[in-house]
Amino acid sequence: MRKIVTVTGEISPEELGSCQFHEHLLIREGRSREINDALFMDSWETSAEEAELLRKAGGDSLIDAQPGGCGRMAEGLARISRRTGLSIICSTGFHKMIFYPEDHWIFRESRERIADFFVRELTEGVDNHCDHEISGETAEQKAGIIKCALDVENLTPQYKKLFEAAAEAAQRTDRILLIHIEPGSDPLQLLDFLQREGMPADRQVYCHLDRAVSDSGVHRKILETGAFLEFDTIGRYKYHSDEEEIRIFKKHIGGGFGKQLLFSLDTTRTRLSAYGPTEIGLDYIRRVFVPLMEKNGVTPEQIGDIMRGNPLRALVGKENT
Ligand SMILES: [Zn+2]
Repeated sequence: MRKIVTVTGEISPEELGSCQFHEHLLIREGRSREINDALFMDSWETSAEEAELLRKAGGDSLIDAQPGGCGRMAEGLARISRRTGLSIICSTGFHKMIFYPEDHWIFRESRERIADFFVRELTEGVDNHCDHEISGETAEQKAGIIKCALDVENLTPQYKKLFEAAAEAAQRTDRILLIHIEPGSDPLQLLDFLQREGMPADRQVYCHLDRAVSDSGVHRKILETGAFLEFDTIGRYKYHSDEEEIRIFKKHIGGGFGKQLLFSLDTTRTRLSAYGPTEIGLDYIRRVFVPLMEKNGVTPEQIGDIMRGNPLRALVGKENT
């Protein structure tokens, strides 16, 4: 049986409930903030208020997609989880290279050492002090999934090294890859590469294609392999309306891929209402987007798949649900 590992321990598949599959509740001060001030929220108490909103709206769980070495705050996430009862899965793995200073370990360490690091974070405990060097600490919290990111330069030697390490760690631990896709990068080339590295397609989740890749033929090719797509251009009107987002969901549901779709908000500071009262808030999907889906003809059963069934299928596999 595949495990669901949260920051406060293992949970059973029944306990996962509804899950927002790619969020950010906490990000520590660092390079991310230097690039974008919205990529900084380091108060666990403020973020707990936000988590509470989601709980009140009926949310059960989420994945925090900030990887170790890049401002992840696993201890804070555990506090939020204990205070609110929200199950939180945290990430090992790697983000886009622009989020790391030049002297960061991610550029220096070998594929083997990085794979071992990911495995250790998944099985023994995360390193809460690894934003510059790997400290070797194994904290109480464990990572549950492996976050990866593909940027426009695609599979350079550095990204190849990291994706090989992630694929190896995923297979050694039987966990999934949650993959950030940047506009202009090539997810199909990556999928092919990862399959050749031994990663089954249905253990890979491709994120943000609803804004990163406008050609729905590319979405379809990925879905045909059995991989999952996570969409989160929801309440982000500078990209497109929620109605347009629902049109993308409906297209893939109509194509027979309704059991491979996930949703989330990919929050930053400027989308969390506990940090700014006029922001949409972590409960936006349940408060606004789901009712709008229903109004636009997505059935409760189809919504239930995206909200509950598919997260479980992605994390523990078809045979276990
Ligand atoms: Zn993200």
